[in-house]
Amino acid sequence: MSTLKQELESRIKETTRWETRRQFAADGPNMRKLWVLACMDERLPVDRALGICADSVVCGGDAHLFRNAGGIVTDDAIRSAMLTINFFGTREIVVLQHTGCGMLSANGHDLEKALRDKGIDVDNIPIDPSLPELSLEKGAFAKWIGMMDDVDQTCIKCVDQLRNHPLIPKDITVSGWVWETEFHRLRAPDPNAPTRAVSQPTAASMNVKGKQPPRWS
Ligand SMILES: [Zn+2]
Repeated sequence: MSTLKQELESRIKETTRWETRRQFAADGPNMRKLWVLACMDERLPVDRALGICADSVVCGGDAHLFRNAGGIVTDDAIRSAMLTINFFGTREIVVLQHTGCGMLSANGHDLEKALRDKGIDVDNIPIDPSLPELSLEKGAFAKWIGMMDDVDQTCIKCVDQLRNHPLIPKDITVSGWVWETEFHRLRAPDPNAPTRAVSQPTAASMNVKGKQPPRWS
């Protein structure tokens, strides 16, 4: 049986390793060697949905967690995935999106118009102020927003994009999942809308008129 002194010394050693783990690079990965791409929605409980503890020292640090509007593949998502997979030992990607997502709740063209009506010149936007080389072609803004027609189809598309991206090695496990916000349960994405046990998987189900800009088609 160890003494309390020994336990405290061991705990401090572990905490120190936790705090400095990035310097170990691929030898200091997160616990599950996992990168999660998830929607930023406050109703999407990433830890509960996946049965992990993503970013707390208390329960382990299971994953690198990246959240954005929709949980979609963007240039910064690719940048983050590239880093964690190629340099920090990550071996698996999980894409987590959800029903009732705000990205289903409007048409990208209407959002662009709303910004133009505010006097914003969306044709000349610094997408990354520190990287002026990264720019949108004129007329691409609505597409860039990334609104969805169908969360299941978008999730499947994002998985394909990651699997086929040159910065993501082919032996990385990539999967996508949909959290049913209304039922608090996880399921695999289903491209066939009528077979889903959900009520708001499409923009049409939220009374959005017209197709989104062609990002996911
Ligand atoms: Zn969402």
